[in-house]
Amino acid sequence: REPERLGKVLATAGVASRRASEEVIFAGRVTVNGTVCKIPQTPVDPLRDFIYIDGHSLPKKLPPKLFFALNKPKGYICSNGVDESKSVLSLFDGFIKSWTKKNPGIAQPRLFTVGRLDVGTAGLLLVTNDGEFANKVSHPSSGITKEYIATVDGEIVTRRQLNAVAQGTLVQGVLCVPKEVELLEGEADDKKKRLRIVVSEGRHHEVRLLVENAGFEVQALKRVRIGSLRLPRKLSVGKYQLLTEQQANKIL
Ligand code: URA
Repeated sequence: REPERLGKVLATAGVASRRASEEVIFAGRVTVNGTVCKIPQTPVDPLRDFIYIDGHSLPKKLPPKLFFALNKPKGYICSNGVDESKSVLSLFDGFIKSWTKKNPGIAQPRLFTVGRLDVGTAGLLLVTNDGEFANKVSHPSSGITKEYIATVDGEIVTRRQLNAVAQGTLVQGVLCVPKEVELLEGEADDKKKRLRIVVSEGRHHEVRLLVENAGFEVQALKRVRIGSLRLPRKLSVGKYQLLTEQQANKIL
């Protein structure tokens, strides 16, 4: 067995994120075989070495799989960036804190997003600690369709413009063609129109590019459906709903 770095071992055991685990180590709260260790890169064997944090051994039990449907607000990023203050994951801090308190001895769930929405995009985003589920849903070969509503500037939308969206656009050198494009009538005001767009690949900025390259200015973009899961109407912006494993698996 290859030794692993102490910082990584703590993160894998669910103590905290990689960076926060390093802080715990720097703070002198971790001992390895009875000696304080302040260097996250120290090689250790999690099965043989005795690793303690604040005098407690590493949590051994893995957390259950968790699945959330989040109504992502515009302005939040989907990665654990260096500046985590506006990461969508920060919206779950309270949940994780109270979960950890209620489940002593079980490793803290480490959540991540299923695929990504751009910082400027709002709407349905899945968040989980189940890597296999996340890969299955976000892999382009899954064929899972995603539905977006794009609000665009303009008093009229011509058939030509709609056709231009429907014909697709190049995204990173690959032609992306939407599955469906539709003008929604009578819901936005005179100066704006709403387009419903269904895609199955979800390449970087795909929907925004589809709309912009057809000559529209995008005012807002919102995802309203992933596979069979619709953004619940009663879920307000920034709020999430815990899904059962069965509900999550229905998306696959
Ligand atoms: N397509 C986009 O352009 N943006 C998103 O956030 C998702 C899909």
